[in-house]
Amino acid sequence: MNENLLNQCQLKLADELAHIRVSFIEDLKTNSNPVTSQLAEMLEQTSPADWIDSIDDKICPSQFPNYTRLVQIEAAMCQIDIGQFGFCCDCEKEIEVELLNQDPTTQRCKSCQSKALQKL
Ligand SMILES: [Zn+2]
Repeated sequence: MNENLLNQCQLKLADELAHIRVSFIEDLKTNSNPVTSQLAEMLEQTSPADWIDSIDDKICPSQFPNYTRLVQIEAAMCQIDIGQFGFCCDCEKEIEVELLNQDPTTQRCKSCQSKALQKL
């Protein structure tokens, strides 16, 4: 994987992560469920790196798109750390640069992506 692209993706991910964390806390606070607003207070006192572990199954991810995105971004950043970023999760080939530029959390190459969509 090209060093420049990797750096760009890393910056993009870090930037988006910071925004998503703020939006996600807002989502929790504005939710009508009291358990959810308590969770927001708890998370504000927790290191953001531990959020996903702390949340565990306390919320339903489908109700919180920002949470789903947070998990995706953290997974991609973890892949960068372990040197597995940019490889397709199905065929293990390199993911096309244009896909990573569009969305650095992309997990599949073009051909596997279209196969996966057909199965849905
Ligand atoms: Zn693939």
